[in-house]
Amino acid sequence: MIYLDSNATTQVDPEVIEAMLPFWREHYANPSASYAPARTVRKAIENARSEVAALLNAQPDEMVFTSCGTESINAVHASAQRLWSERPCLVVGKTEHSAVIESARRWQQQGGEVLWAPVERNGVLNTSELRRIIRPGATALVSVMWANNETGVIHPISEMVEIAHTAGALVHVDAVQAVGKMATDLAAIPIDYLSLSGHKFHAPKGVGALFVSRRVPFDPWLVGGGQEAGRRSGTENVAGVVGLGKASALMLRCLAGDAEEKIRSMRDEFERRLLGGLPATVINGGEAPRLATTSSLCFPGVDAAGLLILLDRAGICCAAGSACHTAAVHPSHVLEAMGFDARHAASTLRFSFSRFNSPAEVTDAAELVIQNVRRMRELWSAEAGPVVVS
Ligand code: PLP
Repeated sequence: MIYLDSNATTQVDPEVIEAMLPFWREHYANPSASYAPARTVRKAIENARSEVAALLNAQPDEMVFTSCGTESINAVHASAQRLWSERPCLVVGKTEHSAVIESARRWQQQGGEVLWAPVERNGVLNTSELRRIIRPGATALVSVMWANNETGVIHPISEMVEIAHTAGALVHVDAVQAVGKMATDLAAIPIDYLSLSGHKFHAPKGVGALFVSRRVPFDPWLVGGGQEAGRRSGTENVAGVVGLGKASALMLRCLAGDAEEKIRSMRDEFERRLLGGLPATVINGGEAPRLATTSSLCFPGVDAAGLLILLDRAGICCAAGSACHTAAVHPSHVLEAMGFDARHAASTLRFSFSRFNSPAEVTDAAELVIQNVRRMRELWSAEAGPVVVS
Protein backbone atom coordinates (compact mmCIF):
# COMPACT_ATOMS: atom_id res chain seq x y z
CA MET A 1 0.00 0.00 0.00
CA ILE A 2 1.24 3.49 -0.83
CA TYR A 3 -0.62 6.01 1.30
CA LEU A 4 -0.98 9.35 -0.48
CA ASP A 5 -4.04 10.69 1.32
CA SER A 6 -2.55 12.52 4.29
CA ASN A 7 -4.87 15.53 3.87
CA ALA A 8 -7.74 13.15 4.71
CA THR A 9 -5.93 11.81 7.75
CA THR A 10 -2.40 10.92 8.77
CA GLN A 11 -0.70 7.91 10.24
CA VAL A 12 -0.37 8.29 14.03
CA ASP A 13 3.31 8.74 14.88
CA PRO A 14 4.59 5.72 16.91
CA GLU A 15 6.09 8.18 19.44
CA VAL A 16 2.62 9.70 19.88
CA ILE A 17 1.13 6.25 20.55
CA GLU A 18 3.83 5.57 23.15
CA ALA A 19 3.09 8.88 24.88
CA MET A 20 -0.64 8.09 24.99
CA LEU A 21 -0.57 4.50 26.25
CA PRO A 22 0.00 5.27 29.99
CA PHE A 23 -3.11 7.47 29.96
CA TRP A 24 -5.26 4.47 29.09
CA ARG A 25 -3.40 1.92 31.20
CA GLU A 26 -2.36 3.62 34.44
CA HIS A 27 -3.30 7.30 34.55
CA TYR A 28 -7.04 6.91 34.07
CA ALA A 29 -8.16 9.22 36.89
CA ASN A 30 -10.63 11.96 36.06
CA PRO A 31 -8.50 15.12 35.84
CA SER A 32 -11.14 17.08 37.78
CA ALA A 33 -10.86 14.81 40.86
CA SER A 34 -8.95 15.96 43.93
CA TYR A 35 -6.58 13.04 44.70
CA ALA A 36 -2.94 12.61 43.65
CA PRO A 37 -3.47 10.38 40.54
CA ALA A 38 -5.82 13.06 39.17
CA ARG A 39 -3.15 15.69 39.66
CA THR A 40 -0.79 13.61 37.49
CA VAL A 41 -3.41 13.60 34.73
CA ARG A 42 -4.06 17.34 35.10
CA LYS A 43 -0.36 18.00 34.81
CA ALA A 44 -0.19 15.97 31.59
CA ILE A 45 -3.06 18.00 30.12
CA GLU A 46 -1.36 21.29 31.02
CA ASN A 47 1.91 20.03 29.57
CA ALA A 48 0.10 19.18 26.32
CA ARG A 49 -1.50 22.64 26.33
CA SER A 50 1.95 24.22 26.46
CA GLU A 51 3.17 21.97 23.62
CA VAL A 52 0.26 22.87 21.33
CA ALA A 53 0.63 26.58 22.21
CA ALA A 54 4.36 26.40 21.39
CA LEU A 55 3.59 25.06 17.90
CA LEU A 56 1.48 28.18 17.28
CA ASN A 57 3.70 30.57 19.26
CA ALA A 58 0.65 31.32 21.45
CA GLN A 59 0.07 31.29 25.21
CA PRO A 60 -1.08 28.04 26.86
CA ASP A 61 -4.17 29.72 28.37
CA GLU A 62 -5.28 30.61 24.82
CA MET A 63 -5.68 26.93 23.89
CA VAL A 64 -8.96 25.04 24.36
CA PHE A 65 -9.04 21.29 23.68
CA THR A 66 -11.96 20.05 21.56
CA SER A 67 -12.91 16.81 19.81
CA CYS A 68 -11.98 17.83 16.23
CA GLY A 69 -11.56 20.68 13.78
CA THR A 70 -15.27 20.67 12.99
CA GLU A 71 -16.18 21.25 16.65
CA SER A 72 -13.69 24.13 16.97
CA ILE A 73 -15.10 25.77 13.83
CA ASN A 74 -18.73 25.38 14.94
CA ALA A 75 -17.90 26.77 18.39
CA VAL A 76 -16.36 29.97 16.97
CA HIS A 77 -19.21 30.59 14.56
CA ALA A 78 -21.79 30.02 17.31
CA SER A 79 -19.89 32.32 19.68
CA ALA A 80 -19.81 35.12 17.08
CA GLN A 81 -23.61 35.14 17.06
CA ARG A 82 -23.44 37.07 20.37
CA LEU A 83 -22.58 40.12 18.20
CA TRP A 84 -25.62 39.73 15.96
CA SER A 85 -27.73 42.60 17.17
CA GLU A 86 -25.19 45.10 15.84
CA ARG A 87 -23.23 43.00 13.36
CA PRO A 88 -25.35 40.47 11.46
CA CYS A 89 -22.79 39.68 8.69
CA LEU A 90 -20.47 36.71 8.43
CA VAL A 91 -17.84 36.65 5.65
CA VAL A 92 -16.51 33.25 4.54
CA GLY A 93 -14.24 32.20 1.70
CA LYS A 94 -15.79 30.39 -1.26
CA THR A 95 -13.31 27.52 -1.03
CA GLU A 96 -13.82 26.75 2.66
CA HIS A 97 -14.25 23.25 4.08
CA SER A 98 -17.81 22.03 4.57
CA ALA A 99 -17.47 22.58 8.35
CA VAL A 100 -17.29 26.34 7.67
CA ILE A 101 -19.76 26.32 4.79
CA GLU A 102 -22.42 24.44 6.75
CA SER A 103 -21.97 26.70 9.82
CA ALA A 104 -22.38 29.66 7.47
CA ARG A 105 -25.60 28.14 6.10
CA ARG A 106 -26.86 27.74 9.66
CA TRP A 107 -25.96 31.39 10.34
CA GLN A 108 -28.08 32.33 7.31
CA GLN A 109 -31.00 30.05 8.26
CA GLN A 110 -31.09 31.65 11.69
CA GLY A 111 -31.47 35.11 10.17
CA GLY A 112 -27.88 36.35 9.73
CA GLU A 113 -26.34 37.50 6.47
CA VAL A 114 -23.48 35.63 4.78
CA LEU A 115 -21.08 37.19 2.26
CA TRP A 116 -18.93 34.83 0.19
CA ALA A 117 -15.37 35.98 -0.55
CA PRO A 118 -14.15 34.81 -3.97
CA VAL A 119 -10.75 33.44 -4.94
CA GLU A 120 -8.52 34.17 -7.92
CA ARG A 121 -8.09 31.64 -10.74
CA ASN A 122 -5.05 30.25 -8.87
CA GLY A 123 -7.20 29.57 -5.78
CA VAL A 124 -5.85 32.40 -3.62
CA LEU A 125 -8.32 34.57 -1.70
CA ASN A 126 -9.13 37.69 -3.72
CA THR A 127 -8.30 40.35 -1.15
CA SER A 128 -9.49 43.29 -3.29
CA GLU A 129 -12.90 41.63 -3.48
CA LEU A 130 -12.81 40.97 0.26
CA ARG A 131 -12.16 44.70 0.84
CA ARG A 132 -15.08 45.52 -1.46
CA ILE A 133 -17.70 43.15 0.00
CA ILE A 134 -16.93 43.39 3.72
CA ARG A 135 -19.43 45.62 5.54
CA PRO A 136 -17.51 47.82 8.03
CA GLY A 137 -19.24 47.97 11.38
CA ALA A 138 -21.78 45.32 10.36
CA THR A 139 -19.51 42.26 10.08
CA ALA A 140 -19.16 40.06 13.16
CA LEU A 141 -16.67 37.53 11.84
CA VAL A 142 -14.47 36.79 8.83
CA SER A 143 -13.73 33.06 8.55
CA VAL A 144 -11.10 31.99 6.02
CA MET A 145 -8.90 28.89 5.90
CA TRP A 146 -5.12 29.16 6.09
CA ALA A 147 -4.51 26.42 3.49
CA ASN A 148 -6.97 24.59 1.29
CA ASN A 149 -7.55 20.88 1.83
CA GLU A 150 -8.07 20.05 -1.87
CA THR A 151 -5.35 22.11 -3.57
CA GLY A 152 -3.01 23.05 -0.70
CA VAL A 153 -3.25 26.71 -1.80
CA ILE A 154 -2.14 29.06 1.01
CA HIS A 155 -4.18 32.22 1.55
CA PRO A 156 -2.70 35.65 2.43
CA ILE A 157 -3.77 35.44 6.06
CA SER A 158 -1.93 38.58 7.30
CA GLU A 159 -3.66 40.75 4.71
CA MET A 160 -7.03 39.10 5.38
CA VAL A 161 -6.65 39.82 9.11
CA GLU A 162 -5.75 43.45 8.42
CA ILE A 163 -8.83 43.90 6.18
CA ALA A 164 -11.15 42.26 8.72
CA HIS A 165 -9.84 44.20 11.70
CA THR A 166 -10.02 47.51 9.79
CA ALA A 167 -13.72 46.75 9.22
CA GLY A 168 -14.17 46.03 12.95
CA ALA A 169 -14.69 42.28 12.45
CA LEU A 170 -13.22 39.38 14.42
CA VAL A 171 -11.19 36.77 12.51
CA HIS A 172 -11.36 32.98 12.54
CA VAL A 173 -8.78 30.94 10.63
CA ASP A 174 -9.47 27.30 9.83
CA ALA A 175 -5.87 26.08 10.06
CA VAL A 176 -6.73 22.37 10.08
CA GLN A 177 -4.55 21.72 7.01
CA ALA A 178 -1.85 24.26 7.84
CA VAL A 179 -0.86 23.51 11.44
CA GLY A 180 2.18 21.24 11.63
CA LYS A 181 2.76 21.55 7.87
CA MET A 182 3.99 25.14 7.64
CA ALA A 183 4.95 27.95 10.05
CA THR A 184 1.83 29.25 11.83
CA ASP A 185 3.14 32.03 14.08
CA LEU A 186 0.33 33.68 16.00
CA ALA A 187 2.70 36.18 17.64
CA ALA A 188 3.34 37.57 14.15
CA ILE A 189 -0.29 37.65 12.93
CA PRO A 190 -3.07 38.95 15.23
CA ILE A 191 -5.59 36.16 14.52
CA ASP A 192 -8.49 36.06 17.01
CA TYR A 193 -9.59 32.41 16.72
CA LEU A 194 -7.89 29.44 15.04
CA SER A 195 -9.04 25.84 14.62
CA LEU A 196 -6.80 22.79 14.36
CA SER A 197 -7.21 19.04 14.31
CA GLY A 198 -4.87 16.34 15.64
CA HIS A 199 -5.44 13.66 13.02
CA LYS A 200 -4.06 15.89 10.26
CA PHE A 201 -0.59 15.94 11.81
CA HIS A 202 0.08 12.47 13.22
CA ALA A 203 -2.01 12.67 16.42
CA PRO A 204 -5.11 10.46 16.70
CA LYS A 205 -8.63 11.20 15.50
CA GLY A 206 -11.05 12.61 18.07
CA VAL A 207 -8.94 15.47 19.40
CA GLY A 208 -8.58 19.04 18.20
CA ALA A 209 -8.00 22.47 19.62
CA LEU A 210 -9.28 25.99 19.38
CA PHE A 211 -7.04 29.00 19.87
CA VAL A 212 -8.90 31.91 21.46
CA SER A 213 -6.78 35.04 21.70
CA ARG A 214 -6.67 36.72 25.11
CA ARG A 215 -7.87 39.89 23.35
CA VAL A 216 -11.29 38.56 22.34
CA PRO A 217 -14.48 37.27 23.98
CA PHE A 218 -15.68 33.68 23.60
CA ASP A 219 -19.00 32.08 24.53
CA PRO A 220 -18.68 28.31 25.03
CA TRP A 221 -20.58 26.02 22.70
CA LEU A 222 -20.60 23.03 25.06
CA VAL A 223 -21.71 23.94 28.57
CA GLY A 224 -21.77 21.69 31.63
CA GLY A 225 -19.04 20.88 34.13
CA GLY A 226 -16.93 23.93 33.25
CA GLN A 227 -13.78 22.09 32.10
CA GLU A 228 -11.22 23.96 29.97
CA ALA A 229 -11.67 27.09 32.13
CA GLY A 230 -15.36 27.06 31.31
CA ARG A 231 -14.74 27.28 27.56
CA ARG A 232 -15.50 23.63 26.65
CA SER A 233 -17.30 21.44 29.12
CA GLY A 234 -17.00 17.66 29.07
CA THR A 235 -14.47 15.29 30.64
CA GLU A 236 -11.24 15.62 28.70
CA ASN A 237 -10.08 13.04 26.15
CA VAL A 238 -6.88 12.75 28.17
CA ALA A 239 -4.93 10.27 26.03
CA GLY A 240 -5.96 12.20 22.88
CA VAL A 241 -4.87 15.49 24.40
CA VAL A 242 -1.51 14.00 25.43
CA GLY A 243 -1.14 12.65 21.87
CA LEU A 244 -1.95 16.06 20.41
CA GLY A 245 0.69 17.65 22.64
CA LYS A 246 3.31 15.08 21.66
CA ALA A 247 2.50 15.42 17.94
CA SER A 248 2.77 19.23 18.27
CA ALA A 249 6.21 18.96 19.88
CA LEU A 250 7.34 16.56 17.14
CA MET A 251 6.00 18.80 14.36
CA LEU A 252 7.69 21.86 15.86
CA ARG A 253 10.97 19.99 15.73
CA CYS A 254 10.30 18.82 12.15
CA LEU A 255 9.45 22.35 10.99
CA ALA A 256 12.66 23.67 12.55
CA GLY A 257 14.56 21.01 10.57
CA ASP A 258 14.21 20.04 6.93
CA ALA A 259 11.06 17.85 7.06
CA GLU A 260 8.95 20.33 5.07
CA GLU A 261 11.61 20.62 2.35
CA LYS A 262 11.93 16.82 2.14
CA ILE A 263 8.18 16.45 1.63
CA ARG A 264 8.19 19.28 -0.91
CA SER A 265 10.97 17.68 -2.94
CA MET A 266 9.10 14.32 -2.98
CA ARG A 267 5.90 16.09 -4.06
CA ASP A 268 7.74 18.12 -6.72
CA GLU A 269 9.42 15.01 -8.09
CA PHE A 270 6.01 13.26 -8.23
CA GLU A 271 4.55 16.19 -10.18
CA ARG A 272 7.61 16.45 -12.45
CA ARG A 273 7.21 12.80 -13.44
CA LEU A 274 3.49 13.08 -14.06
CA LEU A 275 3.79 16.30 -16.09
CA GLY A 276 6.57 14.68 -18.12
CA GLY A 277 4.77 11.35 -18.65
CA LEU A 278 1.22 12.58 -19.17
CA PRO A 279 0.73 15.46 -21.61
CA ALA A 280 -1.91 18.09 -20.71
CA THR A 281 -1.81 17.35 -16.96
CA VAL A 282 -2.71 20.47 -14.95
CA ILE A 283 -1.63 21.26 -11.37
CA ASN A 284 -4.62 22.98 -9.77
CA GLY A 285 -3.29 26.01 -7.89
CA GLY A 286 0.18 25.27 -9.28
CA GLU A 287 0.87 29.01 -9.73
CA ALA A 288 0.02 29.85 -6.11
CA PRO A 289 1.92 29.39 -2.84
CA ARG A 290 1.05 25.82 -1.80
CA LEU A 291 1.50 23.41 1.09
CA ALA A 292 4.43 21.07 0.48
CA THR A 293 2.11 18.15 1.20
CA THR A 294 -0.49 18.58 -1.54
CA SER A 295 -0.84 17.90 -5.23
CA SER A 296 -4.18 18.38 -6.97
CA LEU A 297 -3.87 17.13 -10.53
CA CYS A 298 -6.27 17.19 -13.47
CA PHE A 299 -5.79 14.52 -16.14
CA PRO A 300 -7.99 15.85 -18.96
CA GLY A 301 -10.21 13.22 -20.58
CA VAL A 302 -9.89 10.80 -17.66
CA ASP A 303 -12.74 9.95 -15.30
CA ALA A 304 -11.17 10.50 -11.86
CA ALA A 305 -13.66 8.21 -10.10
CA GLY A 306 -12.63 5.35 -12.42
CA LEU A 307 -8.95 6.17 -12.03
CA LEU A 308 -9.39 6.12 -8.25
CA ILE A 309 -10.66 2.52 -8.52
CA LEU A 310 -7.74 1.45 -10.73
CA LEU A 311 -5.25 3.09 -8.38
CA ASP A 312 -6.92 1.42 -5.40
CA ARG A 313 -6.44 -1.92 -7.15
CA ALA A 314 -2.79 -0.96 -7.72
CA GLY A 315 -2.41 -0.28 -3.97
CA ILE A 316 -2.43 3.53 -4.02
CA CYS A 317 -4.63 5.51 -1.61
CA CYS A 318 -5.50 8.97 -2.90
CA ALA A 319 -8.67 11.06 -3.21
CA ALA A 320 -11.06 12.61 -5.71
CA GLY A 321 -11.96 15.95 -4.15
CA SER A 322 -12.03 16.01 -0.36
CA ALA A 323 -12.68 12.82 1.64
CA CYS A 324 -15.87 14.21 3.14
CA HIS A 325 -17.34 14.41 -0.35
CA THR A 326 -16.48 10.99 -1.68
CA ALA A 327 -19.90 9.52 -0.87
CA ALA A 328 -21.66 12.12 -2.99
CA VAL A 329 -20.75 12.67 -6.62
CA HIS A 330 -20.79 16.40 -7.21
CA PRO A 331 -18.12 18.67 -8.61
CA SER A 332 -15.66 20.19 -6.19
CA HIS A 333 -16.84 23.65 -5.06
CA VAL A 334 -13.16 24.56 -4.67
CA LEU A 335 -12.34 23.97 -8.34
CA GLU A 336 -15.63 25.61 -9.33
CA ALA A 337 -14.72 28.73 -7.33
CA MET A 338 -11.37 28.77 -9.18
CA GLY A 339 -13.30 28.94 -12.47
CA PHE A 340 -12.86 25.33 -13.61
CA ASP A 341 -15.79 23.52 -15.20
CA ALA A 342 -17.39 20.27 -14.00
CA ARG A 343 -15.38 18.23 -16.55
CA HIS A 344 -12.11 19.53 -15.19
CA ALA A 345 -13.22 18.70 -11.63
CA ALA A 346 -14.33 15.21 -12.70
CA SER A 347 -10.80 14.55 -14.00
CA THR A 348 -9.00 15.72 -10.86
CA LEU A 349 -7.34 13.62 -8.17
CA ARG A 350 -5.65 14.77 -4.96
CA PHE A 351 -2.41 13.18 -3.76
CA SER A 352 -1.21 14.24 -0.32
CA PHE A 353 2.10 13.42 1.31
CA SER A 354 3.63 13.26 4.76
CA ARG A 355 7.01 12.65 6.38
CA PHE A 356 6.08 8.96 6.56
CA ASN A 357 6.32 8.65 2.75
CA SER A 358 9.61 7.63 1.20
CA PRO A 359 11.00 9.03 -2.08
CA ALA A 360 11.00 5.46 -3.49
CA GLU A 361 7.29 4.87 -2.90
CA VAL A 362 6.44 8.27 -4.32
CA THR A 363 8.31 7.53 -7.56
CA ASP A 364 6.65 4.08 -7.70
CA ALA A 365 3.28 5.76 -7.26
CA ALA A 366 4.05 8.22 -10.07
CA GLU A 367 4.84 5.30 -12.38
CA LEU A 368 1.58 3.52 -11.48
CA VAL A 369 -0.46 6.68 -12.02
CA ILE A 370 1.15 7.20 -15.42
CA GLN A 371 0.42 3.59 -16.46
CA ASN A 372 -3.20 3.75 -15.35
CA VAL A 373 -3.94 7.15 -16.88
CA ARG A 374 -2.41 5.96 -20.17
CA ARG A 375 -4.54 2.81 -19.98
CA MET A 376 -7.69 4.88 -19.50
CA ARG A 377 -6.77 7.25 -22.30
CA GLU A 378 -6.10 4.34 -24.70
CA LEU A 379 -9.43 2.75 -23.86
CA TRP A 380 -11.08 6.12 -24.24
CA SER A 381 -9.71 6.65 -27.75
CA ALA A 382 -10.70 3.05 -28.66
CA GLU A 383 -14.24 3.57 -27.39
CA ALA A 384 -14.47 7.22 -28.53
CA GLY A 385 -15.67 8.43 -25.15
CA PRO A 386 -14.68 8.65 -21.50
CA VAL A 387 -14.18 5.30 -19.78
CA VAL A 388 -16.23 4.54 -16.71
CA VAL A 389 -14.69 1.84 -14.52
CA SER A 390 -17.13 -0.20 -12.47
N1 PLP B 1 -11.16 22.15 7.85
C1 PLP B 1 -10.37 21.63 6.89
C2 PLP B 1 -9.64 22.54 5.97
C3 PLP B 1 -10.26 20.24 6.76
O1 PLP B 1 -9.49 19.73 5.80
C4 PLP B 1 -10.99 19.40 7.65
C5 PLP B 1 -10.94 17.94 7.51
O2 PLP B 1 -10.71 17.40 6.44
C6 PLP B 1 -11.77 20.01 8.65
C7 PLP B 1 -11.83 21.37 8.72
C8 PLP B 1 -12.52 19.19 9.64
O3 PLP B 1 -11.63 18.63 10.59
P1 PLP B 1 -12.04 17.35 11.47
O4 PLP B 1 -11.97 16.17 10.57
O5 PLP B 1 -11.03 17.30 12.55
O6 PLP B 1 -13.41 17.63 11.99
